[in-house]
Amino acid sequence: MVAKIIDGHAVARQVREECRAQVQALATRGVVPGLAVIMVGDNAASKVYVANKTKACAEVGLKSTVYSFDAETPGSVVEAEILRLNADPTVHGILVQLPLPAHFDARRVLGAISSDKDVDGFHLYNVGALVQGETVFPPCTPYGVQKMLEHEGIPVEGQNVVVVGASNIVGKPMALMLMQKDATVCICHAKTRDLAQFTILADILVVAAGRPNLIVPQMVRTGAVVIDVGINRLPDGRLVGDVDFEGVRQKASYITPVPGGVGPMTVTMLVYNTVQAAQRHSPL
Ligand code: NAP
Repeated sequence: MVAKIIDGHAVARQVREECRAQVQALATRGVVPGLAVIMVGDNAASKVYVANKTKACAEVGLKSTVYSFDAETPGSVVEAEILRLNADPTVHGILVQLPLPAHFDARRVLGAISSDKDVDGFHLYNVGALVQGETVFPPCTPYGVQKMLEHEGIPVEGQNVVVVGASNIVGKPMALMLMQKDATVCICHAKTRDLAQFTILADILVVAAGRPNLIVPQMVRTGAVVIDVGINRLPDGRLVGDVDFEGVRQKASYITPVPGGVGPMTVTMLVYNTVQAAQRHSPL
């Protein structure tokens, strides 16, 4: 068996078309979805991520504004700016680009964002809503994975799902979202003993550990769906995921590449969440 490669760019394009149509409908009512991006400090990777986000917004017709602060800015100043944006009716979504400099209390800063505008889905209210299955803004990366599965017509109900990685932004929300769709979910992490005894049971294997080559063919059931969230830069400059792509591809039914798999979906789901927020703020 050779897996079908899921083209993240193609799925992302389709979701963005859907967003564009919704943006045009909002425009007839005089509403332009607005995203505010808060960036603190000079992190080079963060600058690239923020540039990608603002570009994706512009492509679909959203207005995005970046608010940049020096690394030494007191947390209270950034929080005050967030409170101002919470009250601005032209801003429908607010995100704080992570990581914040070490002296910031990230939880406090994220907690200042109105849960109605928390398009990254990291506010504790939205995390709690996710646990209860009443999601308002699903976090963008696992939401992107869910959209990819839907796009490919891959059923989730009753399937054995194994999520490798238990972070707050990927692994845990991914597990909750698929549990909500009636999958049987197992979460593995760095202290899991004998990872392979879990991964081999997966009908759908989602890997988000940030460890190149963590998943090799012997750990994958024939016909499994393998979603590689990991992004790792090798010493030779190549970008790879957490899965031995060429090896596992010979055994899986579907697989996502890195780059070109989950990555394009993450930014797209941010745009999607912002458009949904604008619709909620501006009911007919
Ligand atoms: P993170 O916060 O570092 O979490 C990594 C998780 O993987 C932790 O739960 C950790 O376990 C677990 N882990 C580490 N080594 C492991 C091992 N050998 N076996 C099993 N589990 C292991 O990372 P993250 O933010 O979730 O990101 C994970 C990866 O996805 C990274 O490569 C990141 O760059 C990528 N990512 C991609 C996108 C995208 O758009 N494609 C978006 C976000 C993240 P413990 O909890 O026990 O430490």
